[in-house]
Amino acid sequence: MDIAAERIERLHSLARAAAADGATDRARYYVRLARRVAERNRLTLPRAFRQFTCDRCDVYLRPGKNARVRVRDGHVVLTCDCGAHARYPYEG
Ligand SMILES: [Zn+2]
Repeated sequence: MDIAAERIERLHSLARAAAADGATDRARYYVRLARRVAERNRLTLPRAFRQFTCDRCDVYLRPGKNARVRVRDGHVVLTCDCGAHARYPYEG
């Protein structure tokens, strides 16, 4: 694993931990940093990262806390508090 990918993984766990602490702004900061690292290194963000971050407001989504989850037509739809929807295939 190269350094950039490792860095993204690390920022991802930091974002998740910050979100769990209720430190939304700090979580956003890590999410944005990770996006920037990915962009600069032309890396694709890990799927879990993409699923649990809001494209619009960069918040780290916590289903049941700051995001609503609905399963519909074989897709999971996550709705962020900002109103943005994230949709991805359901994997049982
Ligand atoms: Zn949002």
